Amino acid sequence: MDLKGQNVAPHPPARWDLEADVVVIGAGATGLPAAIVAREAGSSVILVEAEADIGGHAITSGGNVPLGGGTSVQRQYGIEDSPDLLFRDLTDWSVVGPNGFPDYRFNDREIIRAFADHSAAAFEWLLAHGVIFVDKAPDAFGGNSVGNSVPREMHCAVMDWPTVQTGKPADPAVQKTRSSGNGLMRPLEVAARKAGVETLLEHRMTRIYRQTPTSGPVLGIAVHHKGANLNIRARKAVIIGTGGSTGNVNFRRMFDPRLTHEYCGLAGMPWYDQDASGELAAMSIGASLWGLFNQTGEFGSALTKPGSIGCQYNYRNLQWMPRSRVFERARASGLKVADWQDVILVNMLGRRFYDETGGQFISNNYNSVDPYVQGSYLNAKNFKYSPNNFLNAALAGIDDGHNGGGPIWAIFDSDAIAREGWEPNPPNVDIAAGFFFAANRLSDLAEKIVMQHQRVPMPPANLEETVARYNSFVDSGVDEDFGKPRPMYRIANPPFYAAWATPVVHDTRAGLRINARCQVIDMTGEIIPGLYCGGESAGGFSQHGLARAACQGYIAGHAAAGAPLLDDAG
Ligand SMILES: Cc1cc2nc3c(=O)[nH]c(=O)nc-3n(C[C@H](O)[C@H](O)[C@H](O)COP(=O)(O)OP(=O)(O)OC[C@H]3O[C@@H](n4cnc5c(N)ncnc54)[C@H](O)[C@@H]3O)c2cc1C
Repeated sequence: MDLKGQNVAPHPPARWDLEADVVVIGAGATGLPAAIVAREAGSSVILVEAEADIGGHAITSGGNVPLGGGTSVQRQYGIEDSPDLLFRDLTDWSVVGPNGFPDYRFNDREIIRAFADHSAAAFEWLLAHGVIFVDKAPDAFGGNSVGNSVPREMHCAVMDWPTVQTGKPADPAVQKTRSSGNGLMRPLEVAARKAGVETLLEHRMTRIYRQTPTSGPVLGIAVHHKGANLNIRARKAVIIGTGGSTGNVNFRRMFDPRLTHEYCGLAGMPWYDQDASGELAAMSIGASLWGLFNQTGEFGSALTKPGSIGCQYNYRNLQWMPRSRVFERARASGLKVADWQDVILVNMLGRRFYDETGGQFISNNYNSVDPYVQGSYLNAKNFKYSPNNFLNAALAGIDDGHNGGGPIWAIFDSDAIAREGWEPNPPNVDIAAGFFFAANRLSDLAEKIVMQHQRVPMPPANLEETVARYNSFVDSGVDEDFGKPRPMYRIANPPFYAAWATPVVHDTRAGLRINARCQVIDMTGEIIPGLYCGGESAGGFSQHGLARAACQGYIAGHAAAGAPLLDDAG
């Protein structure tokens, strides 16, 4: 999408094409709940969605939802949780990962308090709006930065909705036990229709209008639809639920200059691109960003190791299959790696850079610190220090003064193919766009690696030397360069392969400044009247995903429609 000029405040239009009380941007985990809540509170609602289908990253997700604070299911299983316990968990300064990075220290207390107070209500609201959760006790699986004290993770049953990844329903045997974002978003789509939300697909918001560029209330938005521009007036409020910024290279590099364009395999893409359009449109009318450390902190899933190789979209928990609606954009499913012992990973110059079995950053969940006492200095001491530096080594680059680590290639031979049971042909691998190469000699393989992100040729002698040295480590049983554990395997049996294995950018954990009611705040600390935001486009809350998005959508929908929230009672 061309975002040029999006940071320039537009003048309100002379004519409105459509209007509603509340206009919601983005039909994802924030936008759909916000739209339904506002409509059920009596407001007319227009929900605009850029893509041809609803769902956002939420529909591609694992459907693991850490809403807690005393839900009916927590009570059913005898788990004692409360808004206060949840609040203290998510603001605990003393929790750090093994690499010393804190999950919660930089969370905004006002925003977390609102989440803690409305978390259980948002969960019950999802139940009441058709979401079916897997029938088991809350656990610690699938979320991250969700608090240490008690299990809070619930899982949306996939049921018989065709999944967006495969284009077909899951096996009936697992429909009630497998967790998936389809099981969250399809019921909400039905609920939105039932409530009378007017959903406009393929309507991409391009501008937010305010009375004057930096003062007065928000008046509406501009959208682009099939070559035409329309203006939609919002009588009461506009809610931003556009899902974050990691797909916008210039925007994400404000947080981390290393994240240059080769990090192109974003999680959740190509279902939709997190292009920062919500943030940019709000910033152009004065909005502030917030909680920026949470984006660069080395915990959780902002950056991940790939799970599949040989394709562009290689997030470890998401493989696009040929019957998916977006397979034409994804082009290949990738080869899922069961054991990183089966490959070596090299940089653009054909050099190894780390133990290939190394992991990514981790985050705090139930029982990660054990024993755990909220706020105790001992929590940080209960971890054995481990730098978790695989990703940093991959992003370190080739010492030529450029930012970004460049492509990372998995190099392997036909024995590895047999061990992994891979089928190294399309549609599993993307040969046409240059994400997979094969050759009978290592030197030929290095020469073949030509693609848009490989900005220097890989010297054939380097790759031969790297493999020969690695094979000598296999023979001696000791990886003298990176301490990779055994068993290692020789790379010797042609054909040889090079498969794209570059790290993946995933979550946005920093965005627009909001208050407890999800109202967007400007650079002078004032509320921008009529503008709300939640989910990955909002800042101040370090937590992976669905729970904060759904809960903030729930809060924003109430507040935008002028409906009472829990804390209004007192
Ligand atoms: C593969 C994967 C697995 C995940 N698994 C989990 C999990 O198990 N548990 C968990 O808690 N989190 C998970 N997450 C994260 C979670 O899905 C997201 O954090 C959550 O969906 C964010 O909600 P959101 O409303 O901010 O954005 P989204 O749900 O992504 O929705 C944003 C919507 O806005 C639309 N949009 C964007 N720009 C515009 C525009 N200019 N005009 C109109 N519409 C626009 C998009 O098309 C999209 O539909 C996962 C994410 C991925 C990618």
